[in-house]
Amino acid sequence: MANANVNCWPVVVIGGSSDQSQETTGAFQEFPQVEATRLYSKFSARPSSLAAIPSVIEKAVRTSMYGRPGACYVDIPGDMVNAKVDQSQVRQVTCCPVPPVSLAPPTDVLKAVALIKQAQRPLLIVGKGAAYGRAESELIELVERCGLPFLATPMGKGVVSDVHSNSVSAARSRALLHADVVVLLGARLNWMLHFGFPPRFNPHVKIIQVDLCAEELGNNVRPAVALLGDIRSVVRQMLDIFQKDPWSYPADSEWWKALREKMAANAEMSKALASAPSPMLNYYSAFQHISQLLPPDCVLVSEGANTMDVGRTMILNRLPRHRLDAGTFGTMGVGLGFAIAAAMLERSKSAPQRVVCVEGDSAFGFSGMEVETMCRYKLPVVIIVINNNGIYSGVDAETWAELEKMDDLATIAPPVTLLPDARYDQMMTAFGGHGFLVRTAAELRLSLQESLSDWQLPSLINVLIDPASDRKQQEFPWLTRSNL
Ligand code: ADP
Ligand code: MG
Repeated sequence: MANANVNCWPVVVIGGSSDQSQETTGAFQEFPQVEATRLYSKFSARPSSLAAIPSVIEKAVRTSMYGRPGACYVDIPGDMVNAKVDQSQVRQVTCCPVPPVSLAPPTDVLKAVALIKQAQRPLLIVGKGAAYGRAESELIELVERCGLPFLATPMGKGVVSDVHSNSVSAARSRALLHADVVVLLGARLNWMLHFGFPPRFNPHVKIIQVDLCAEELGNNVRPAVALLGDIRSVVRQMLDIFQKDPWSYPADSEWWKALREKMAANAEMSKALASAPSPMLNYYSAFQHISQLLPPDCVLVSEGANTMDVGRTMILNRLPRHRLDAGTFGTMGVGLGFAIAAAMLERSKSAPQRVVCVEGDSAFGFSGMEVETMCRYKLPVVIIVINNNGIYSGVDAETWAELEKMDDLATIAPPVTLLPDARYDQMMTAFGGHGFLVRTAAELRLSLQESLSDWQLPSLINVLIDPASDRKQQEFPWLTRSNL
């Protein structure tokens, strides 16, 4: 619930609780659940009677979706589960209509358009609110009609395709640092966007903030223009103005030139890291092969530290709502559950898409037993574990053997290390799925092709990479908070 709430995703949780008559007696699993969930929900209640259940459920469903989406909790005590009530006593409720959408005030939309036209170094930032708000056609039109560069946040990826020629993801730091006008579309200026602060952002940047949550407007940075409304409708309002009075940002500008140069340099660097002469795989070489073989329409689930970070830049998304990861809360352990839900949903479709789960070894450990669920339901999820023997980094088997010879392993072994070369693939074979242990590029390619050709059973590819493999040198340390 907390993960969904922090990500602004709707979810309704219905939980059982001890009998009302036994409350305060120390009943089995007695706990104040309604109060406990208030910290991470929009609405949390226990129906006062059996007859009240339909209205409480209706309110929970509606509240989870209306306004900024979030989590809702309904508590059902044990004695309500088997009780009966006469139909005539129950107030009939019907399913709520789809959430109402609101438009931004037209004068503010005009101000925003004027600001975009004045920009010397404009940038659109597409967040997961745009994905949730299904604003893809409007945003593609805005990008193309106005020739604007855009960046996506991790789960905003694919709203406008990562392979679109206006995507400047490969020059993310540079784009954030120098943009003078940023149009923020369904993304919060939280840690994921470095709070909108220098040194990651230009101190004089003017932000046009589009969000349906009024309380979000002005968090950390006071926007030059605040557009309160539904992204899809607000972008349509902007497009109407641009349609009447066509304008496009010059493709031969210094800004485009600088961004393109930086993108080319970064692409070169990733390519060099991917083709390092070492016989062992590293993050970049593993992801290069994976990205070449994954179906372009697959649903990608990813969690981990370096695995998620490097994977995000190397695995491209072409479709909206096709990437699920640790999200705003940075929650590890959600990946396999997401993959199961996605695979169940895909299975109900006439043309199912492949669900691929790219996990760090540590992240996989949080909910690795879900491989049993995947085998039980015969869900053809492909799990790729990028195994570096630890969190951020581990040690190789020989170093580990040396450490084991020492007296007090617990104090000597770095706490971030996990057992080297752990056989996660055997967890999958134990339950009847396909398991692969992979050390080379050729083995990786073969096992991935084999896994993708099977629609009956899940697979787990355990990719042993060089434990010393790291991310490329970053321009800024992670989570810079100077000038806060
Ligand atoms: P990201 O992780 O991509 O940066 P966030 O979760 O931080 O995205 O931000 C998403 C934002 O989108 C939230 O502030 C939420 O209120 C907003 N939002 C969600 N749906 C819509 C919508 N349909 N229209 C406008 N804003 C939306
Ligand atoms: Mg790891």
